[in-house]
Amino acid sequence: MARTIHNLSCRACVIILVAEVLTGCLLTAGCAKGHRQAEVATAKQAAGPKAGSSAIQITVLYDNYTLSEGFKTGWGFSCIITGTEKCILFDAGANADLLLENMDKLQLRAQDVDLVVISHDHGDHTGGLYSFLGRHSNALVYLPSTASAGLVQGVESRGAKVQMPDNALQICEGVHLTDSTFKGNVEQSLVLDTTEGLVVVTGCAHPGIVEIVKKAKQMLNKDVYLVFGGFHLLDLSASQVQSIIQQFRELGVQKVGASHCTGDRAIQLFKEAYREDFVPIGVGRISIPGKL
Ligand SMILES: [Zn+2]
Ligand SMILES: [Zn+2]
Repeated sequence: MARTIHNLSCRACVIILVAEVLTGCLLTAGCAKGHRQAEVATAKQAAGPKAGSSAIQITVLYDNYTLSEGFKTGWGFSCIITGTEKCILFDAGANADLLLENMDKLQLRAQDVDLVVISHDHGDHTGGLYSFLGRHSNALVYLPSTASAGLVQGVESRGAKVQMPDNALQICEGVHLTDSTFKGNVEQSLVLDTTEGLVVVTGCAHPGIVEIVKKAKQMLNKDVYLVFGGFHLLDLSASQVQSIIQQFRELGVQKVGASHCTGDRAIQLFKEAYREDFVPIGVGRISIPGKL
């Protein structure tokens, strides 16, 4: 079901959701290089792309939800981050055809991706990876340290380079991977260190969304602006979800974009608690005006 974006009562909201069907902003949809070229052409900026010179844009390619009609949805998650020094694909959804179809509709090119980050080795986050690499294998792929031998071999056999970090790591200017090791779980999350605060991007959050946010905060010692992705709260009672919302408040999380495996009830509770600071997430484009 399409998620509407009618709740943006505050025009000055720092996060501006952009439904490309409404704004026609596809001209700026390319990865960093193309995006910057468009910016240079339209804003008459000094020649030569520079990290941090573009607005960060997050395009969700794969999710259980969509921001506008016309995109297919499925259980899984994937997004592309542009406007950063390196163009990053985060997770690859479950179904390769769906991933690539949405990528095409959103006019993003696999060839522009520099880095691939896989949060954890579950099929709803890795399913489209090989087909993506079939289009473009000249990317560095960050796999979780516990990725199966089959996944590592599958990526390498398609010509991509693999890294499996054990510790927190900066992967390009202003973009970090969290330390992926938690009690009983391994999952890495992306953290963008923006001028608005930290933006934390999660896959399924199996180690616990609160634990991930804590790690992100500790890693960079900064306030958290936005947390989005899968929170994995499907099996929690309403009071357990309320407790997590309370912990988010105590951690100072300003905005929340719960999606994917969070569960409809938990998403609704986050929406009611965060009101205008709830950021609907689904297949489509999200702009973050903060820079790195
Ligand atoms: Zn998972
Ligand atoms: Zn998942």
